Amino acid sequence: KVSSLEPREDHRICVCVRKRPLNQRETIMKDLDIITIPSDNVVMVHESKQKVDLTRYLENQTFCFDHAFDVTASNELVYQFTAQPLVESIFRKGMATCFAYGQTGSGKTHTMGGAFSGRDQDCSKGIYALVAQDVFLLLKTTAYEKLDLKVYGTFFEIYGGKVYDLLNWKKKLQVLEDGNQQIQVVGLQEQEVCSVEDVLNLVELGSSCRTSGQTSVNVHSSRSHAVFQIILKSGGKLHGKFSLVDLAGNERGADTAKANRKRQLEGAEINKSLLALKECIRALGQNKSHTPFRASKLTQVLRDSFIGQNSSTCMIATISPGMASCENTLNTLRYANRVK
Ligand code: ADP
Ligand code: MG
Repeated sequence: KVSSLEPREDHRICVCVRKRPLNQRETIMKDLDIITIPSDNVVMVHESKQKVDLTRYLENQTFCFDHAFDVTASNELVYQFTAQPLVESIFRKGMATCFAYGQTGSGKTHTMGGAFSGRDQDCSKGIYALVAQDVFLLLKTTAYEKLDLKVYGTFFEIYGGKVYDLLNWKKKLQVLEDGNQQIQVVGLQEQEVCSVEDVLNLVELGSSCRTSGQTSVNVHSSRSHAVFQIILKSGGKLHGKFSLVDLAGNERGADTAKANRKRQLEGAEINKSLLALKECIRALGQNKSHTPFRASKLTQVLRDSFIGQNSSTCMIATISPGMASCENTLNTLRYANRVK
């Protein structure tokens, strides 16, 4: 049913929601699927699906987005409606950003294509690979081959308000702001890439370095924001950039209460940066004169990708279907609703 819609290119931020299927654990625990996608842009949360009386039924909540993807949607389909319409803009000196936002375990890394454990999982079809595929196709078209562009990849993570290079043994990097408010991540490795395979090698290397921790929610929860960038340069100068951001899990304190103090501090830092991201996106959408980029490291390093006439953003909010995730799912949907 999604095919009836054309991907949109006309607005600043495209916000989509993707529901993943119930997993094996949820099925064994007899968790209920409380999410329905009645049409290709509507998400319904049935908070009390097992109760049939009318008053409880009225507590169902409905949210509208640019697109809503049901469990059968492939990464390719999600890509077509989110990141793909932005790819060509970086050949026209644009800055594009795609965020995956959601609770740990809801499918952010699956969508981006960073779920490497060796090469046993097929990650060649995530957003990283699909953007790379289109970049290398466009590079060879008559319109752009005369620009003599070179393609580079960077991969870093932001953890506890600090930046670490995932392509250089997690080296801690300084972020500097010059007099013209230009942000520079000093010493960040930029690796030249000539094929999709090259890009996947970088993704695999960087993914294996990512910080993961243990909480009561998920053994390998991702507590850092991972930023993969595909950069076009012409004559050694920046031409365009696509930032693909796999955000840290947005789950709230209640889930991490059983975890230790370190995890709680991580959670506070994550909440701060996700709040700053929301405020920046909202400020830009409303053309406010002041955008609070400095409120977090995440928004600070992405500053140049946000501003300028030729910048565009999309967000994929990933949600878990189970009743047990209801609060986190509602928080994700409310957040996504606020940035659109
Ligand atoms: P996150 O990065 O948000 O913590 P993951 O991407 O690691 O979550 O997903 C958690 C698990 O759910 C993984 O095993 C992943 O393969 C699976 N999964 C996520 N999204 C989907 C989907 N749309 N279809 C099938 N499996 C999915
Ligand atoms: Mg992840």
